[in-house]
Amino acid sequence: MDNFSYVNATDLEQVTSLLSDSGWGEVMVVAGGTDLLGELKEYIETPKTLINLKSLPGMDSISMNTTGITIGALTTVADIANHPTIQQRYTVLAQAASSVATPQIRNVGTLGGNLCQRPRCWYYRDETVNCLKKGGDTCYAVDGLSKYHAILGGDPVFIVHPSDIAPALIALGASLKIVGPEGEKTMKVEEFFTLPAANPFRENVLQPNEIVVEVHVPQPKQGTKSFYLKAREKGAPDFALASVAGVFEMMGQTCQNANIVLGGVAPAPWRSTEAENILSGKVINESVSNNAGAAAVKDAQPLNDNAYKVTLTQNLISRTAMMAVS
Ligand SMILES: Cc1cc2nc3c(=O)[nH]c(=O)nc-3n(C[C@H](O)[C@H](O)[C@H](O)COP(=O)(O)OP(=O)(O)OC[C@H]3O[C@@H](n4cnc5c(N)ncnc54)[C@H](O)[C@@H]3O)c2cc1C
Repeated sequence: MDNFSYVNATDLEQVTSLLSDSGWGEVMVVAGGTDLLGELKEYIETPKTLINLKSLPGMDSISMNTTGITIGALTTVADIANHPTIQQRYTVLAQAASSVATPQIRNVGTLGGNLCQRPRCWYYRDETVNCLKKGGDTCYAVDGLSKYHAILGGDPVFIVHPSDIAPALIALGASLKIVGPEGEKTMKVEEFFTLPAANPFRENVLQPNEIVVEVHVPQPKQGTKSFYLKAREKGAPDFALASVAGVFEMMGQTCQNANIVLGGVAPAPWRSTEAENILSGKVINESVSNNAGAAAVKDAQPLNDNAYKVTLTQNLISRTAMMAVS
């Protein structure tokens, strides 16, 4: 790891002014450090200055009112997973957070860091490989080892987005607040993430002088049920091979509206409007849920080693939908 200077942030203005004009990578923010320190050790990132966000006051709280719940970007993944109201009313979010990594990482890793974490692709994380994501001209997963890579939306970079929390937030219709030198802006979490076709180097639209400060999740409608299903290689804590965040507005056995967002299969959390269109307005049964699963993966383009993700994703969607009526 290269030497860097370390600054404890005192307020947001100081953070954005230190980030300003530095471009990507010269000055970086760190929260829990569970993702960034790995990148520093592997020389994937070599900042001159690190700004510690955890010294900022008041950004690690969860508050509620009649419109929904607001979660500070420095809230730990564990605090989200263990929050009683989130477990009860925003179940998909609590389930997604509790599926992240290990208790130790959940106790330190933050919401902002989870959304802004970088891909786990073994080519990207290898300091000796100058892949397309790092300014080279090849995504080595295409002709190389691709077991954990994208089956949807990959071209030209076939990473998958590693966050479990992001698909849950999108399925719940959450928005996030960003602060930069020009002040605050709010956007849907869905609009925050971007595909490699738009920008092969980044996974979101955050500018180098901006940070995420909080996330707002609207109150789910009466009768809403929600679930997060995640398939891992082993029972052990691990990133998703494929995952499904499903939010279902139910009236009896009828699903009035479904939001289905996939994790682990695309370079950004992947909203399946195909599955949503099949489930919304229908009585949910096995046939409807199987059709939804099949529709979600009909345009999948697996690489050499990851065709198993097509069936896996299809079945996870179908199982998630059936949970809404069981
Ligand atoms: C062994 C292991 C297993 C894991 N398994 C999973 C898993 O199963 N599911 C999953 O979802 N994640 C998993 N993770 C990732 C983990 O959840 C993230 O590392 C963690 O949430 C990141 O939070 P952090 O506060 O430590 O981020 P940091 O490491 O501090 O930062 C990560 C990145 O986000 C940026 N950043 C941090 N905060 C902000 C902010 N507020 N605004 C803008 N940028 C910011 C940093 O500059 C950095 O680039 C795993 C990580 C490890 C090491």
